[in-house]
Amino acid sequence: MEIIFLGTNGWYDTDTGNTISTLINSDKYHIILDAGNGIYKADRYIQDDLPVYLFLSHFHLDHIEGLHVLNKFRFSQGMHIFGQKGTRQVLDTIVNEPFTVPLSKLPFAVEVRELSEGPYKLPFPLECRFLVHASPCMGYRFDLDGKVVAYCPDTGICENAVLLAEDADLLITECSHKPGEQSPDWPHLNPEDAAEIARRAKAKRLALTHFDAGRYTTIQERLDAVKSITNFSDVIVGRDNVVLEI
Ligand SMILES: [Zn+2]
Ligand SMILES: [Zn+2]
Repeated sequence: MEIIFLGTNGWYDTDTGNTISTLINSDKYHIILDAGNGIYKADRYIQDDLPVYLFLSHFHLDHIEGLHVLNKFRFSQGMHIFGQKGTRQVLDTIVNEPFTVPLSKLPFAVEVRELSEGPYKLPFPLECRFLVHASPCMGYRFDLDGKVVAYCPDTGICENAVLLAEDADLLITECSHKPGEQSPDWPHLNPEDAAEIARRAKAKRLALTHFDAGRYTTIQERLDAVKSITNFSDVIVGRDNVVLEI
């Protein structure tokens, strides 16, 4: 299974990358996590007829602003879009006139489904839990090809993130803040917090993404920040276009 980092910035695009989007290429499904501007690269890595699933965590624009390029894709089995309650209304508003081509006029079929907390079989096993953020943000746990991948984007440290990542082969989470930085009013993670979630969950590997564009202005700053992690060893620094095999 491949994890491809299409966009690894939080907030806005810079020379370090596009806003957040991550692709999981499993044996039977393509799964896209969030639709920041990096999503435009998805068709570089999706070149077969497998079905495509898009999971939206929340509606902050850095996670959905890439939706206006959906009409460049030609997904022969269509696209299944999942998100929390309210997803349909958000999509009907922004993926519509006068902003862009409406969902109903895309060159492939789109199905939108709203999820609550809990387990699902979609057909792959999925678990959804709300994280802690300025706006309700859904985290996901996928069971694909016998591997567990947890995706916990915008969040502070919370028990639900630990539960989603429990014994996961890979935890993909955010790293908006610099080491030691906190923001209780608008929760995000610093590198040590992200590692603490992975450690408590006993995840095997930790991949960091969603580096805040204003704080991390170079890739080297991402690499330096991770050196502050002392309690977890297998950490991958997300960068646009990196392909991770798990
Ligand atoms: Zn964000
Ligand atoms: Zn957010």
